[in-house]
Amino acid sequence: MQRLLIFLFVVVPYLGAMGQELTCKQFETLHKHQKSSLFKSSAGESIDITHVTLHLDVDPSQNDLTAKAVITFKAMTATSIVTLDLADNLHIDSLLYNGTSTVFNHQFDVLTITLPQPLTANERGRIQVNYSGDPTNNPYRSYDRSKGRVEDTTGVIWTLSQPYGAHQWWPCKDGLTDKVDSLDMYITIPLGMKAAGIGSLEQVEPIGTKQTYHWKHRYPITTYLVAFAVTNYDEFTDWVRFPSGDSLPILNYIFPEYIPFGRDPARETVRIMQLFDSLFGAYPFIDEKYGHAQFLRGGGMEHQTMSFMVDWNFGLVAHELGHQWFGDMITCGSWQDLWLNEGFATYLTLLSYDILLSHDDWIANNLHSRTRAMQYRTGSVFVQAADTLDENRLFSSQFTYHKGAQILHMLRWTVGDSAFFAGLRSYLGDQNLRYGFARSHDLKEHIERSSGNDLSDFFDDWLYGEGYPSITATWHQSGDKLVVRLQQDTLAPSVDHYSVPVEILVKNQDTKAYFRLETESNDTTFTLPINWLADSLFIDPNYWILSRNYVIHDNQPAGDLQLYPNPTLNDLTIVNGNTPIQQISVYTVDGKLFREISVNRATNVFTMNTSEWIAGMYFVSVQSENDVRTGRIIHLNP
Ligand SMILES: [Zn+2]
Repeated sequence: MQRLLIFLFVVVPYLGAMGQELTCKQFETLHKHQKSSLFKSSAGESIDITHVTLHLDVDPSQNDLTAKAVITFKAMTATSIVTLDLADNLHIDSLLYNGTSTVFNHQFDVLTITLPQPLTANERGRIQVNYSGDPTNNPYRSYDRSKGRVEDTTGVIWTLSQPYGAHQWWPCKDGLTDKVDSLDMYITIPLGMKAAGIGSLEQVEPIGTKQTYHWKHRYPITTYLVAFAVTNYDEFTDWVRFPSGDSLPILNYIFPEYIPFGRDPARETVRIMQLFDSLFGAYPFIDEKYGHAQFLRGGGMEHQTMSFMVDWNFGLVAHELGHQWFGDMITCGSWQDLWLNEGFATYLTLLSYDILLSHDDWIANNLHSRTRAMQYRTGSVFVQAADTLDENRLFSSQFTYHKGAQILHMLRWTVGDSAFFAGLRSYLGDQNLRYGFARSHDLKEHIERSSGNDLSDFFDDWLYGEGYPSITATWHQSGDKLVVRLQQDTLAPSVDHYSVPVEILVKNQDTKAYFRLETESNDTTFTLPINWLADSLFIDPNYWILSRNYVIHDNQPAGDLQLYPNPTLNDLTIVNGNTPIQQISVYTVDGKLFREISVNRATNVFTMNTSEWIAGMYFVSVQSENDVRTGRIIHLNP
C-alpha cells in the first residue's frame, strides 16, 4: 500500500474527493475497535480454505450489498465447529453446510457454525453464507463508496481490506496464516458500469437491467488482497512482451474524465514490468493479467493482479507493481514483518528511478528516502507485537517504508550486487515461501546462503535495533600512506556498533580513489596505500549507508570553501578547507538571513538538509575562528 503524502499536485481534478483521507480522530476510533474486539480472533484455525466463490450484488448509488459466499475447505484436525470472521453489522439471511441449513451463531464479528457431523482430519466441507447489509459503515473503511466524483456524479465502490478489514464485507479467515488457493468473484452491477476484480475476466453476462462480471483467479491469495471496484470506468489495455516469449495484458480501468491524465503514464507499466521480470523472475501471475483500477483513496493498494490507484504516476505504478512479487506472491507472515512488503516496494521504486529514468531521479529520490529513514533515532523497523494494532505505526513511512528500503540498500552494499540479487531470486523461488508467507529470518537465510556471510549482526542492528550511527573520519596523509581513523557514535542505546562497511572517497583535483572499510568496533584506524597527494576525504559518497558524517583533516593545508552539489536538491555539503566551522549563515538572494546554524563539533565538513528550501539562489556564509567565507548556490525543487 502506498498512502498519498506528497503528490497531491498530480491529481488536481480529484482534490475534492480526496478530503476523504482518514483523520486522526478516525484513526483513534479504529485503534479502539481493533484493540477491543477482533484482533486476536483465531477464526478458521481448524480449517484450510481451498476455494472461495463470492457473489456480490452491488450498485454504486447505494451502500447496501447482497452477497453469497461459498467457502470450500479441508479440516486440518478433527472438528465439529468451524469459525469464520464476519462483521456483526452484516445480516446472515441463511447458512448452508454441504447444501443443508445448519445451526450457527454470529456475534463479536465471529461466525460459529456447528457441523451436523464432526469432520475428521483432511475431510472436506462447504459452507454457503447468504448475507446482506451496509458494509460501508465499518471503522476500517475497507468497503467504501463515494457518491460521485468532481466531474462526474456516478458513484464509485471499492474495497481496501489491508490490514484488518476483509471480514467487514466477506466471511473469511482474516489473518496471515492461510491463503485461499483459488477464487471466483461474480459481481452483479447495473448496465453501463464495469467491475474491476482479481484474476482473469471470464465473462460479462447481461441479466435484464444488470450484468454479472465473472473474475476467475487460480493462484493462492491472502485474504486482504481480495478486492473489487465498480463505477462507469473507461478501459484500455497495454501489452508486455517478455524475452521468454510470454506476453501479458495490462488492463486499466480508469475514470473517463481522467483519460487525458492517465493514458500516457500508464504505458510506463510495461517497461517497469520488464525490469522486474529481468531482476526477480517472471511476473507471479503470468497466466492471468496485471491491471490498475482507479479509486478515490489517496495513494494505491497492491490488490493481487489489479492494483487500485488514485492516479498513474511513475513512482506509484512501480511501488504497487513491485508488491506483486513482494507482498502478494510472498506475503509478510506477521504484521511485525510488514517491511518485507513495504520496504521492498519502496526499494523497487528507487531501483526503477535509477535504471529506467535517470541518475538524478535516483539521487533525488534516494536522498528523500534517506532523510525520512533518519527522521527518528529510536524505534525499530521490525514492529513490536503490541504495535501491530496501531495502523499509524504499521504503515509508518519512516520505518516500514523508507528505513525498510534503506536496509535493503545497505544489505546490497554489504553482500554485493550479485549475492544480493541471487539471494532475492532464491527467496522468491523458495517452495516453502512462494505463494505463501515469509518472516524476516527467511529473507536473512536466503541472503546468507547466497553471500556466505553471517548476517545476524546486520539484522540485529538495522532491523531489530534502532537508530543509525554518526561517523567521524579523522585523517591525514603521511608520504604514501593515508591514515584514517573511523569513529562511530551510536545514536540509539539499543545498538552498540552498527554492522556495515563504510566507503570513503579520497581525492584531489585530478585523481580519486575509493576504499571500503570494514569496522568491528567503534574506533578503528586504517593505514591505506596512496601514491598521490590527497586534499579531501568524503564518507559514503555514494549514499550506501544511513549515517550522519563528519570529517576532520588533521594536518591539511588551508583550502577553499567548497559547496556541493551545486545546484543542490536535498542536501548541501559544506567543506571549509581545513578550518573548523563555527557558524553557517544562509542568505536569500535579496540579502535576508534565511538560516543560521551553530556547529558544535570540531569539523570542517557539514551537511545540511535543504529539501524544504524553495528553489532559488542562496548565499552561504561560513564563519570560522579567524575568518568568514561566502559562496553561492542554486537550489532546485526536488
Ligand atoms: Zn506498498
